[in-house]
Parts: sequence; structure tokens; C-alpha cells
Amino acid sequence: MMKIVIVGGGMVGMTLAHLLRRRGVEPTVLERMPAGHYVPRGYMLGFQGYEPLEEVGVYDDVKAAGRPIAPRPDQPPVAVAVRFGALIEALQRDLPIVNEHTVTELVRDGEGDRIIGVVAEGPDGPVEFESDLVVACDGMRSPTREKAGLVAKFDALPEAELGFMSTSVADTSFAMSYMSDGGHIGMLSWNEGSGGWRSARKVGRDAALAPGLDAIKEMWARLLPASASALEGVTSLDQIRYSEPELLACPEWWTPGCVIIGDSAHFFGPETGISSGIGLGDAHALAQAVMMNPDDADAACRSYETWRAPAVRPYEANDPGRQRIMVADQVQGRPDEVWPPPD
Ligand SMILES: Cc1cc2nc3c(=O)[nH]c(=O)nc-3n(C[C@H](O)[C@H](O)[C@H](O)COP(=O)(O)OP(=O)(O)OC[C@H]3O[C@@H](n4cnc5c(N)ncnc54)[C@H](O)[C@@H]3O)c2cc1C
Repeated sequence: MMKIVIVGGGMVGMTLAHLLRRRGVEPTVLERMPAGHYVPRGYMLGFQGYEPLEEVGVYDDVKAAGRPIAPRPDQPPVAVAVRFGALIEALQRDLPIVNEHTVTELVRDGEGDRIIGVVAEGPDGPVEFESDLVVACDGMRSPTREKAGLVAKFDALPEAELGFMSTSVADTSFAMSYMSDGGHIGMLSWNEGSGGWRSARKVGRDAALAPGLDAIKEMWARLLPASASALEGVTSLDQIRYSEPELLACPEWWTPGCVIIGDSAHFFGPETGISSGIGLGDAHALAQAVMMNPDDADAACRSYETWRAPAVRPYEANDPGRQRIMVADQVQGRPDEVWPPPD
């Protein structure tokens, strides 16, 4: 049986572990955080993630706990707005995870050509885990990817992202609109709260929040009226988030003995809402590739790449964050849409 070490027990690492176990492979999942840990927030599960979660047996629970987005008769919704914990808790059930173990080193063979294990720092000191294949599921900044020597290409978006988190539930589960400069403004509402986002000028957090809470709420409700009910639960600037997102793509996804999937391999722009669905699809494809090549990790990686590149690479190339489409003849955003507003 192929010895597989999964670095990172986030949603992609856990999904891969379940899918491998269903195919008769018992992986070791190493996670640096304590058992049961996650950061509470809302989340949009895109349709790309449905199949792997159906096979794991958690899709129905997650769907029941969430709100459908763009429901269609006799078909699944395009996406589900749900409490992030509903998915994470479902994946954590009945899955052995080695918690509080941080992978700090990759072990290579005598020639240094192949990765044959990892060293993880746990409560009792360093522990070595042998592997035929290390799967990096350790997120966008993936230390494993870096140690394996796989190149990461980060592209900073030209704009920043302003967001809100609210305890109010909005009337609709999702609303989004494009602005005259190609930027976007949106809102997601699950059964326990809501969140919003919009593209903004890259001015730093202080300047982005300087107009104050009332001005931020007024702008949101004016540009995206469907978010008005969500904004009722925004009462403090602590609920406003400013970030400067980056896109990630990696030209190579594997090297002998190590493969990267999920956020460690790619990250998409904020308005696409696809990052996790694509990662869950990666887990599905890799589990299948391992099952078809049970004695040859390199063949499994080659097979994985062959199936997955046509599904993932077009999303990377076409991310709207790479090329904003302006409204015809418009070279600057409308002043009433720009944030923070021009002086
Ligand atoms: C604010 C926010 C909102 C988002 N909203 C959406 C959304 O609505 N829809 C969507 O599809 N996507 C969304 N995403 C993206 C989505 O959350 C990710 O695509 C998804 O969580 C990726 O899962 P992952 O398992 O690949 O990585 P992660 O969730 O980053 O998990 C990585 C895991 O690896 C562990 N780890 C890291 N280093 C080590 C180490 N050295 N040793 C051991 N363990 C390690 C970490 O503790 C973590 O548990 C959002 C992201 C953010 C930040």
C-alpha cells in the first residue's frame, strides 16, 4: 500500500484523507493546530466541490445546514452559503488526524532526488514519518511546497478588498454586481450571518476605513441594495476587513515524492468563489490517481496532472482579477463607486 503523508488537515487535506480511505489507503494527516480548530466565518461552497463531498458523505449535511444560491428546479443549486464550521466539523468526524504536529523538514533519499518523508515537530519533539508520497495541503503559503523546491508565482491584484462580517441574516443568500471600472461588490448570507466584499483602492487599512462606519454602510447599501438587511448587524469598525489579495499559480504541481494540491497549488480572485471547490476537486482526482497507480507514486502524480490541468489551468488563466473589463469608453471608475471616495 502506498504510504501517504498529508501535510495540513484543512478542508482539502481532510477530504483527500476520506477519499483515500474509501479506496483502501490509510494516509497520515499531520496538522499543526489542535483538534477541532478552525476560524469561524461564512463560506460559499461552489458546485465544483459537490462530487467529492458527496462521496465522503457530508454534502447532504452541509447543504441542509446552508442556504442555496441560485437554486434551479430539479437541479442542485449553483452554490451553498453555509457556516464554514458546518463543513469542517463534518469532515473532522471519524477521521484520525495527528494534531499539534508542524511539518518542519522534508526527508530526501541519499542522492537528494526524491522526497521520502517528513519531520514534524510535536509536543514531544521531532518525529519522522516515512512516505512514498507527501501531499502538501498546507495552504497558500505552503512551507512544504517551498521545501520541495516547487515554484510559486504570486500576483498581487491591482486593487484591495474591503469586507464586512455581520450577525444579521440577509433576505437573499447572494448578491453581486460589477462596477464601471470592472471592480465588483458582493454579499453572501448564510443561516447565522452575512459577509460582504468589494474591490477598493489600495490605500492601506487606515485610509480605507477613515470615512467611518456609517459612510461604509451607506456606500454598501447604495451600490448593493440587497445587502441592506445584512448591514444591520454591522455595528463596529472591527467588523470591517481590509486586505490586499494575491493570486497564486504554480507551473509544476509535483516533484518525485511530493505533490501540491488545494490552496498550496493555486488561489483565485475574491469574486470567483471557486478556490475551495477546485481544491476539493484536486483531492478527488488525486485519490483516484493513487488508486489506479497503487505502487508507483510518480505515475499517480503524472496521471493526476493529466486529468487536473485541463480543469484547473483555464480558471487560473481567466481569473477576472488578472484583467478587468471596463465599461466602454470609461477609463476611470465612476466617482460614486470609488472607495475610499476621492477628496
Ligand atoms: C476570508 C476567506 C474567505 C474565503 N471564502 C471562500 C468561499 O466563500 N468559497 C471558497 O470556495 N473559498 C473561499 N476561501 C478560500 C478557501 O477557504 C480555501 O480555498 C480553502 O480553505 C483551502 O483549503 P486547503 O485545505 O487547501 O488550505 P487551508 O484551509 O489553508 O488549510 C491548510 C492547513 O494546513 C495547516 N498547516 C499549515 N502549515 C502546516 C505545517 N507546516 N504542518 C502541519 N500543518 C500545517 C494549517 O493549519 C491548515 O489547517 C476563502 C478564504 C478566506 C481567507
